[in-house]
Amino acid sequence: MSGYDIIVVGAGPGGSVAAKTAAENGFSTLLLEKESLSESGRYKACGGAMAWELVEEIDYPEDKIGRVIDSLELHHTNGETYSKSGKGAVVWRSIFDKYLTEMATDSGAVLRDNNMLLDIKKKENKYEIRTNKEKYLGKYVVAADGVASRTLKRLGWTQFKGDDLILTITKELKSSKLLIDEKLGSNKVHLFFGIKDLIPVGYAWLFPKENHITVGWGNQINLIKNSRKEFNKFINLPIVRDKIHNCSEEIFKPHLIPVGIRPQLYEDQVIAVGDAGGIVDPISGKGIPYAMMSGEIAIKNIKKCINREKIEKIGKFYRKDLDRKFLKILSLKREARDRIFKDDESLKKFLALWENHRSSEIVMKGMI
Ligand SMILES: Cc1cc2nc3c(=O)[nH]c(=O)nc-3n(C[C@H](O)[C@H](O)[C@H](O)COP(=O)(O)OP(=O)(O)OC[C@H]3O[C@@H](n4cnc5c(N)ncnc54)[C@H](O)[C@@H]3O)c2cc1C
Repeated sequence: MSGYDIIVVGAGPGGSVAAKTAAENGFSTLLLEKESLSESGRYKACGGAMAWELVEEIDYPEDKIGRVIDSLELHHTNGETYSKSGKGAVVWRSIFDKYLTEMATDSGAVLRDNNMLLDIKKKENKYEIRTNKEKYLGKYVVAADGVASRTLKRLGWTQFKGDDLILTITKELKSSKLLIDEKLGSNKVHLFFGIKDLIPVGYAWLFPKENHITVGWGNQINLIKNSRKEFNKFINLPIVRDKIHNCSEEIFKPHLIPVGIRPQLYEDQVIAVGDAGGIVDPISGKGIPYAMMSGEIAIKNIKKCINREKIEKIGKFYRKDLDRKFLKILSLKREARDRIFKDDESLKKFLALWENHRSSEIVMKGMI
């Protein structure tokens, strides 16, 4: 059985950055991924939108970007629109995630794809992980296997509550660059809101890529009566129908987004990062940068505590570091989310503020 200092479960952004950081810090590192990461990577239902700062930070090649964006159009079903400018990118997650995974393997992490964790058990001071292919031993385990983390489920960690889960539906529509430029604008992302007439707690979106439009819809799971019906209501809004007719459907996929941080992010040599920890912006659903940052912070804290011979402090230091960098703000946003989606008046107030302020500024200054 192969043994490693650190086993990272899941090669999404959180797992790949954790594996890269671990390998760079001298840990023998195994990265397990259940899907096949062939030439084109694995499909992940996601808008794939990110701030330009992130593109620059990781030197993400422009030719791998689906579309460069310079503004966000916020539509309310009552006809009001708000416009928010800012440079960003929309990426295919298959390509983006593979880029990060290659950074991890280039740094020395061993990748085993087509390896799904089926079970995990503590044996003396190590974890034995059984996948569909093999068994592995690891001293530390990074749970980066997303919102439905089997790693944490098998270890008996508490699961997300219904009001901390957003059920999303994604459709990938094939179109042409010409048509997308004409109907959506060449560099615009569109978000749709409306508590009474669209989605009680959540929003829907149209994200353009080169020749595709990613259509998405997400609502708090315990408020959904019939997701397909509600999704169809969205795509049949005149303003939406006009933008996507003549497109052909290629993919239809539901997926969850966690919008509440797990009360516990570390226990007994197991650390949760990204969606597995619920580390997502609860207002926008943005999770890629938080997964990446938490992956890096997790490993740095393991390393720090080992060096200082204070491994019993890993959980405390990890949480403190996350809090200082962004977790406190995400917690405040979780509270603000309930106020924003209370009624259409509050939502419109937020959309108007969002035009000119970052959502973190709105929340921290108590503007909503
Ligand atoms: C519809 C939708 C739209 C979104 N849009 C955006 C957006 O525009 N911008 C943004 O920033 N965020 C967006 N998000 C959120 C973002 O996708 C996540 O926050 C982000 O992917 C979290 O990364 P992660 O590495 O924690 O988990 P994931 O990306 O979910 O990666 C987990 C990995 O673990 C693997 N895995 C799972 N189980 C096992 C197992 N048992 N064994 C081995 N491997 C396993 C999976 O195959 C996957 O590769 C969106 C989410 C959804 C659902």
